[in-house]
Amino acid sequence: MKYPEDEQEFREMVQSFLDSELTDELKEAGRKKTSIWQEPVSAAAWQAILYKKGWVAPDWPEKYGGTGWSARQRYIFAQECARYGTPGIAPMGLKMCGPMLIGHGTEEQKEYYLPKILSGEHIWCQGYSEPGSGSDLASLKTSATSDGDDYIVNGTKIWTSHAQHSNMIFALVRTSSEGRIQQGISFLLIDMNTSGIEIKPIINLEGSHELNQVFFNDVRVPKANRVGKENDGWSVAKYLLEFERFSMSSIELRRLLTRARRLADETTENGLKLQTESTFQKKISELEINALAIEMSEQRALASIESGDSPGSISSVLSAIGAETLQKADELGVEIASYYGLPKQPLALEVGYEAIIGPELFLPVTPSFLNNRMRTIAGGSSEIQRNIIAKAILGL
Ligand SMILES: Cc1cc2nc3c(=O)[nH]c(=O)nc-3n(C[C@H](O)[C@H](O)[C@H](O)COP(=O)(O)OP(=O)(O)OC[C@H]3O[C@@H](n4cnc5c(N)ncnc54)[C@H](O)[C@@H]3O)c2cc1C
Repeated sequence: MKYPEDEQEFREMVQSFLDSELTDELKEAGRKKTSIWQEPVSAAAWQAILYKKGWVAPDWPEKYGGTGWSARQRYIFAQECARYGTPGIAPMGLKMCGPMLIGHGTEEQKEYYLPKILSGEHIWCQGYSEPGSGSDLASLKTSATSDGDDYIVNGTKIWTSHAQHSNMIFALVRTSSEGRIQQGISFLLIDMNTSGIEIKPIINLEGSHELNQVFFNDVRVPKANRVGKENDGWSVAKYLLEFERFSMSSIELRRLLTRARRLADETTENGLKLQTESTFQKKISELEINALAIEMSEQRALASIESGDSPGSISSVLSAIGAETLQKADELGVEIASYYGLPKQPLALEVGYEAIIGPELFLPVTPSFLNNRMRTIAGGSSEIQRNIIAKAILGL
């Protein structure tokens, strides 16, 4: 593919950085990533490298530590990182809490928290969902009662991803039970080392510990840690969700599809001319067309962020369609790998499957399939995204 000259120069600059900084160890860690979460040691190591270079938060305004790149350059950077197989970095500070603070935090809050998010000193988790309050988030019950300059927080949060690795949590709490339920919510930033916080693990479908239930028992939180006005946390929460729901899934999708195409080609080359030509290739092509359509919408959302806005309701389209298409690509990966009888790794490692298709494409097919079942639930289910699209975009 031919790129405009200045774009090509930028791409080469990114490639030369990745060539010099991405060690084999980090590459290996990136390759083993089976969900949006990277294991924390390599996530922190890669964040430190990006931080040193000044490239850790390309989506942030330059004034707060962003790179000043255009939307297209940020896309190219993400594309090259995916192609090289860099490890992921913990997303909740850089992708959610930081942009939310830039939009809604006080100057003191920005000054204190943003540098710590960039450097990795603060690792954040998200305390929105509660038992009984997921899709119907505004019904949440965790309470914060006023006590002088502090709030006393009591209640529980659930499905809290990587709480066990985080030292900060942004949480929605109830500060009033008067009026509409959305009007009594406040947004708090809470130090996870505060006494009264307890974390209990939840093991996911893949068998790994990513999720938790977090309990708050008389946890004292300074009122200075509130973002926005008291009882106005709902608008802050929704603003943050637009960032959470915006992800560049087309890049991940293309990576899965490249793997699927290689797998399909391999089955043909090895004499396993099953349904490769007709069925697999057709399915892959259909998903490639979807990936292209998703990429176009991502570029629109990126342009909106570039002008200092949040991504807007388009993030709900990207969340629902991106997640569903990723799941289809995962399903196809498992389907094709099944023709080797090897959807189950590490058996695949033992028989040298990696050597057949090359390490860059040998991603853990089944764990990725299992883990990505969550894509149409976390951050608001696909049904909820469709409700938002109906209301905010289609005006129904
Ligand atoms: C892997 C994973 C990680 C997560 N990480 C976090 C985290 O870090 N922090 C956090 O706060 N939360 C997290 N969540 C929670 C997530 O946001 C909720 O699971 C999600 O909002 C759905 O809520 P629920 O599980 O209570 O399901 P419910 O709200 O009970 O929904 C059950 C089903 O009913 C459907 N439904 C509900 N209401 C409607 C409606 N009005 N119209 C149509 N259909 C409807 C839903 O689509 C869903 O299919 C995570 C979830 C998962 C799976």
